[in-house]
Amino acid sequence: MTDQLYLRDAELRTFTATVTDVTDDAVALDQTAFYATGGGQPHDTGLLSWDGGRAWVTNVRKADGSHWHTLDGALPAAGQTVSGEIDWDRRHQLMRTHTAMHILCGVIWNEYAVPVTGGNMEPLKGRMDFAFDPLPEGFAQKVEELVNAEIAMDRPIEVSFLGRNVALEDDDLIRTKVNLIPESVTEIRVVDIVGLDKQADGGTHVQSTAEVGTFKVAKTESKGKGNKRLRIELS
Ligand SMILES: [Zn+2]
Repeated sequence: MTDQLYLRDAELRTFTATVTDVTDDAVALDQTAFYATGGGQPHDTGLLSWDGGRAWVTNVRKADGSHWHTLDGALPAAGQTVSGEIDWDRRHQLMRTHTAMHILCGVIWNEYAVPVTGGNMEPLKGRMDFAFDPLPEGFAQKVEELVNAEIAMDRPIEVSFLGRNVALEDDDLIRTKVNLIPESVTEIRVVDIVGLDKQADGGTHVQSTAEVGTFKVAKTESKGKGNKRLRIELS
């Protein structure tokens, strides 16, 4: 099992770890600050170095409880101590983008009581699908104004860990389908944009909404009945 250091400290950029397993092109570590692709957020990239070598981390994926770091170059051996440094520019852009997605969810819920049905992101760009049919008049401009107003309010973003039973009694978390998390998960990580949006979430986020930047709806598309897509951009 890899200890996912970013779950408790999304600001962590460097760390040391021990290689626990090696394949042709990837290493598993006992702990890592590299985010593995999941929950709509893409993996981190960065540098891994060790006594006698260094290589760029080109992919990070979860498998069998471990984080596998694909390396562009020679690999360290099992048991070796390594230092990791994540590409902070990319990660911080992803944290801003992921947080913008949660602000968008909160704003659309508060204004229209419509749930999100899916989403994905890359640095400073993302898409989210909502169960609208059809989209309301003037939707894109209205949403843009509401999201940027929440950003300007500089709301703090708090991460906490709740017992499963406590989380299942929280109305906000029920709305965002906390009950669909497998029963084997006994501790739920909660990301709370205080006063706006609370979700069970494993992603990395900035510390306050002001850090997100400027939000823009780039495009709206219909993906069929009861499913409308927003493409968003940050600057
Ligand atoms: Zn999220």
